[in-house]
Amino acid sequence: MARSIVALERALARLERVGKIALVPTMGALHKGHVALIRQARRRAPRVIVSIFVNPTQFAPHEDFASYPRTFERDLAVLASLDVDLVWAPTAEVMYPRGFATKVVPEGAATVGLEDKFRPHFFAGVATVVTKLFVQCRPDVAVFGEKDFQQLKIVTRMARDLDLPVRVIGVPTVREADGLALSSRNARLSPAERAQAPMLHRALVECAERISAGEALAAAMMQGREALERAGFAVDYLEARHAETLLPLAAVADGPLRLLVAARLGETRLIDNIGA
Ligand code: AMP
Repeated sequence: MARSIVALERALARLERVGKIALVPTMGALHKGHVALIRQARRRAPRVIVSIFVNPTQFAPHEDFASYPRTFERDLAVLASLDVDLVWAPTAEVMYPRGFATKVVPEGAATVGLEDKFRPHFFAGVATVVTKLFVQCRPDVAVFGEKDFQQLKIVTRMARDLDLPVRVIGVPTVREADGLALSSRNARLSPAERAQAPMLHRALVECAERISAGEALAAAMMQGREALERAGFAVDYLEARHAETLLPLAAVADGPLRLLVAARLGETRLIDNIGA
């Protein structure tokens, strides 16, 4: 494990001798979704780095930075069992030393009207820390989950725009048997909320089914929203977007489609998305 830039450099010198490096950025509290990313990383490169850093700059003051699940020792055991070559776990002081004053702010269609509306400084926080992770770890490949679909698209765009020599790869969302997307935040759900939570995925599937049966987009999405509200969710958004650009779509024919949702169950905010 490396926790300082000096230790990271020393470890990289060793790893880079072997060949390509794949990086899997995480905030820890590892689950099977993260494991799927690591397995994909293994397939893409002989050396795998997993970073664990709960990034303060992507949380708003009222959000759950302080209470975000932290299971560091358990995470290290999981990563050891997966034969990960290096765990990069910088401290906040290493990532953002005193006087730090620079931000990477993504723009463009993919940044507009979804997570950004409810978490306005989220993607600048993500883009800044991911840029730093790329510069620090010099990966040839970086693996991200489709679970955070808008993030995947924004990071892919950013790497291209900044000529960062890294290939960004997306991995399909890993789900519980009942459809709920795995997330570190699921642990926060009460038993009653956990029982309701799979409705988020079900609503997306029902929207996709209605659309493929020929129903108009707006009507299908409206019904999905109503179903979620009936099930006790406070819906932040439920949207049909272009699967590549994330531009809003008026008609199915303008697709390929991606359906994206964010909704709150009690105190817990859940997100999900599927292709349609
Ligand atoms: P996080 O630790 O939640 O910031 O997530 C780290 C990476 O794991 C991100 O690229 C996420 O998109 C990805 N991820 C989180 N949950 C899942 C999941 N259920 N399936 C696949 N990837 C996931």
